[in-house]
Formats: sequence, C-alpha cells, structure tokens
Amino acid sequence: MQYSFGIIKPDAMQKKYYGKILDDIASAGYKLIGLKLFHLTEEKAKNFYAKHENKPFFDELIHYMCLSPVLCFVVQKENAINDFRALVGNTDPKLAEKNTLRAKYGQDLSANAIHASDSEASFDREWRFFFTENELYFQ
Ligand code: ATP
Ligand code: MG
Repeated sequence: MQYSFGIIKPDAMQKKYYGKILDDIASAGYKLIGLKLFHLTEEKAKNFYAKHENKPFFDELIHYMCLSPVLCFVVQKENAINDFRALVGNTDPKLAEKNTLRAKYGQDLSANAIHASDSEASFDREWRFFFTENELYFQ
C-alpha cells in the first residue's frame, strides 16, 4: 500500500470545486486517511515550495497559494504516488489529458487546482507540513 499527499489550491477552493475533486478521487479508488483546511502563511508557503525558490514563477506561486485557505489531504491506494500524479495531470491544465483533475478544474499554469506529491521522498516531507501522525488514519 502507498500514500500520497495533495492540496486543493486557492483557485479550486474559491470556485467551490472541493466536493467534486474529492468525489473524483474517491471514484478513482483512493481512501481518504487525512483531511484539513489550512491557510498558508507566506513563510510556510516559501518553505513548502523551497525547491522552486530560484524559478521565475516563485513569487507568483507564493502569492497565489496564500490567497485563501486550501484543503490538504492524504490518500491511500496501491501505487498512490504515480497514479495520483496521473489523475492530477499535466502542470498546465491546457495540456492536461481530458479526464484529469487539472483539465476539469484548473484554469492556467499557476491556478491549476491541485498539488500532488511527486515521489515517496516528497510525500514524507509534505504531509508533515500539515498533519501530525495521530491526525492520519492509516488502514
Ligand atoms: P505541484 O508540485 O503543485 O503538484 P507540478 O509538480 O505539476 O505541480 P511544479 O513544476 O512542481 O509542477 O510547479 C509547482 C507549481 O508551481 C505548479 O503546480 C504551478 O502552480 C506553479 N507553476 C509551475 N510552473 C509555472 C509557470 N511556468 N508559471 C506559473 N506558475 C507555475
Ligand atoms: Mg511539483
């Protein structure tokens, strides 16, 4: 069994897509084992996205991630990391395949609806930003 961490980002929160997104994730066979609303501070967003700090889009990304509360979650499924990245789709919603979450709910390269861990190492780092161990219900 494997786990992945995701964030429903401010654009999708503002458009109230959270219910539809969680429903699509459940329909794709994922079990939800952690869920939390969280309003990122600039400091926390910069730390979470530290690996992008030299990219030209960094300031825009940090500003955008702090616009509203986001919905953070942990899901469980076999091969969860790679499968969840595939369900989320290309970073750019315009390039994402038809039934992916970013194609359905994203707006543009910045406001792309959802974050997904890209490796087991990223998952191990990312869930700890938002949850303690006793807030996850491993099954
Ligand atoms: P995520 O890490 O959020 O799951 P990703 O792995 O598909 O997305 P990354 O390259 O890690 O993409 O970029 C992190 C986030 O930064 C993207 O999800 C997007 O919100 C933003 N981003 C990436 N590239 C650009 C860009 N060229 N212009 C504006 N924003 C961008
Ligand atoms: Mg990434």
